[in-house]
Amino acid sequence: MAWERRWNPLQEDWVTITGHRNSRPWSLPQKSILRSSQEHDPLCALCPGNKRISGERNPEYQSIFIFDNDHPAFALPAPSNRVIENSPFVSAPAGGLCRVVCYSPAHNKSLADLSIDETKRLIDVWAQQTSELMSLEKIEQVLIFENSGELVGVSNTHPHGQIYATQFVMESIKKEARAFENSPLPLMENLLKAELADGSRMLYEGADVLAFVPYFAKFPYEVFIVPRNQHQFLPGLSVAERQDLAAALNEILRRYAAMWNCPFPYMLLVHQSPCDMSYPSFHTHIQIHPILRGPNLPKYLASVETGANHFLNDGSPEEKAAELREVKID
Ligand SMILES: [Zn+2]
Repeated sequence: MAWERRWNPLQEDWVTITGHRNSRPWSLPQKSILRSSQEHDPLCALCPGNKRISGERNPEYQSIFIFDNDHPAFALPAPSNRVIENSPFVSAPAGGLCRVVCYSPAHNKSLADLSIDETKRLIDVWAQQTSELMSLEKIEQVLIFENSGELVGVSNTHPHGQIYATQFVMESIKKEARAFENSPLPLMENLLKAELADGSRMLYEGADVLAFVPYFAKFPYEVFIVPRNQHQFLPGLSVAERQDLAAALNEILRRYAAMWNCPFPYMLLVHQSPCDMSYPSFHTHIQIHPILRGPNLPKYLASVETGANHFLNDGSPEEKAAELREVKID
């Protein structure tokens, strides 16, 4: 039984590991849940040739397709905000751009179904979008992410992710950026060294990239995918590093998909430095937070997580890494 708090040096906070070893309170679902078999869905807003809510028609795209989100959370220029004098209510403009990245014209694919070369092309697009959006005036952060699965609120199963380029830096990225700069030792390199030496949570050891369940995982099947060398931004990665990153990402997602024969919803974020160049020590990497702790058994962000901002992880990271390593993939 593990009952301990573990320190997350990137976020400078604690997570409590409450995993009971070898206890699996769930049973495996008997039947696999079928995904859409249609390669093209006439009702999907993201499929090639279809009309979106804005009235615009998607081109007959063949590989990756990017467009500005029809329902953006942020706008450029930001609508000017109302300032209320002598009030505790503080507001600021929510300036930024939101883009949608369709990974493939095939409606029935997922990111896990892409080949390593297709995944590498997506990483190239992420890097190119980062460079382009960073060069826009006042953009302070480029956040690339994917919400995957109905449990994280995604109703459209067409394979896609999003990019938020904002005129402010989000708190978690700001905290991480400061932690990288304030660390007396290179923070991520040190972490990689420790994970390699321990080995029990390691999932992928490539020439350029490592993937592992971090010692301080917040979610049972959380995985970090990290280039061995430090780069402040994704465009800094070499061709070989991008290829290895694609191979690692592909392998982890296929392990998730093959785990229980049921959908494996997750949140994936590419962590890059804020754009203002004051954080040269930032170590670009990918974090994946799967929402399940068992088949069809979601982890809820309940009172302690939401109200006290303290994560309780009911899985032991060592045990969960072993489960992921055991998954048979081709
Ligand atoms: Zn579609």
